[in-house]
Amino acid sequence: TIRTRFAPSPTGALHIGGARTALFSWALAKHFGGTFVLRIEDTDVERSTPENVAEILNAMQWLSLTHDDGPYYQMQRMDRYREVIAQMLEDGTAYYCYTSKEELEAMREAQKARGEREKYDGTWRPEAGKTLPAIPAEVQPVVRFKNPLTGRTSWVDVVKGEISFNNEELDDLIIARPDGTPTYNFCVVVDDWDMGITHVIRGDDHVNNTPKQINILKALGAPIPAYGHIPMILAPDGTKLSKRKNATAVMDYERMGYLPEALNNYLARLGWGHGDDEIFTREQFVEWFSVEHLSSSSSQWDPKKLNWVNNHYINQKDNAELTSLIEPRVSKRLAAYEHVAPLTSRPLAAIVELYKSRSDTLEDIATAAEGFYLKYEPNVELIREHLNDANRPALADFATKLKDIAWEKESINALIKSTLADHTLKMSALGVPLRAILLGLTQSPSLDAIIHIIGRDEVVQRLTAGLS
Ligand code: GLU
Repeated sequence: TIRTRFAPSPTGALHIGGARTALFSWALAKHFGGTFVLRIEDTDVERSTPENVAEILNAMQWLSLTHDDGPYYQMQRMDRYREVIAQMLEDGTAYYCYTSKEELEAMREAQKARGEREKYDGTWRPEAGKTLPAIPAEVQPVVRFKNPLTGRTSWVDVVKGEISFNNEELDDLIIARPDGTPTYNFCVVVDDWDMGITHVIRGDDHVNNTPKQINILKALGAPIPAYGHIPMILAPDGTKLSKRKNATAVMDYERMGYLPEALNNYLARLGWGHGDDEIFTREQFVEWFSVEHLSSSSSQWDPKKLNWVNNHYINQKDNAELTSLIEPRVSKRLAAYEHVAPLTSRPLAAIVELYKSRSDTLEDIATAAEGFYLKYEPNVELIREHLNDANRPALADFATKLKDIAWEKESINALIKSTLADHTLKMSALGVPLRAILLGLTQSPSLDAIIHIIGRDEVVQRLTAGLS
């Protein structure tokens, strides 16, 4: 059965590129009813932190990229790596190398001077009939993998097609440092083997590691998984995606008010496709997913399209659920002000209903909603700009009659219409100054709904003040 894995290094938060890799690995496993393994590659002890691990797990959970096995932590598997290294030393597929740092440095310098590729010269590599130098007393050896000297290492990448490396170009990779700690490529190999990984989907920054890993797997007699290297996500301008230009951390998107289902749907279409389908459910994605449709060219981050997808998912939500998602965001915003009306004083659900179709994010809705709870401050300049002799009497008339109507959207709407007729005004002639007074804005969703939400007394007060 299929076993895939996602193997983040907790040297930072989970970013959108990593999330997409995880999403594809997850979908591949799910499509075949397989197992999705989560492995935390925390051997870079300087840069790995428990906070980053927590952040990654949190982001995976937010995206509902649930692992079926793990999380495994490489730092907890050191004994196993040492065991495999000992076995390889015994089998002769790895060897101790006593070349000192200084000697290596000198070797590199000399190779560079001769215009050659930098490479370990094989001094300590055991060969039949070869006598090795005497072991120096002071040097702590590293362990090197005995890489094949001839032939090629090739694989049919499920994304990029056939990829082939000349073995001659691959060094005798150090698999254990002088202090015995295993190195990155080695840990990955032992893990993929032990965890029975059948398909490795990862970023194409790892292409150069793959032949090294394949050769070690072969030396161990381990099965070789299928590899698929996905090109990176570029910034909208086609350059490298960076924090400076776009938010890159998954949880930043949560903070900005994106829905996890929208981000998942958007990420799924970034380097994978099913015809022209842009919006699809998770179930459809799993059903349709196939590595054949992973694109071998890089994709570009498109914030506008993400907004479009997010708007779609926002509007798919049941209003009660959407309101419960908005409420904590509004509360958080209001906490920054001294004088606010309590959240219960206005119908948040009605505000959400009114603004959702024109909002790209939950924060857009929260921003609009926030205004309904803040202490009213007339936008004097805007009001002055839009009040005139033609609309002033109509607004006064409207304010007066507003006191006596039934407080329903329908009757408010009817009053707006009759006021327009009585004063022979067009909708915009009344709507613009009305919005300027009530909201300090010249545009908003439909006025009857806005007026209904703000409430009779408050609307009359604002109109009276605005007209005085
Ligand atoms: N830990 C690696 C990374 O974060 C991934 C290694 C792999 O997928 O093989 O880039």
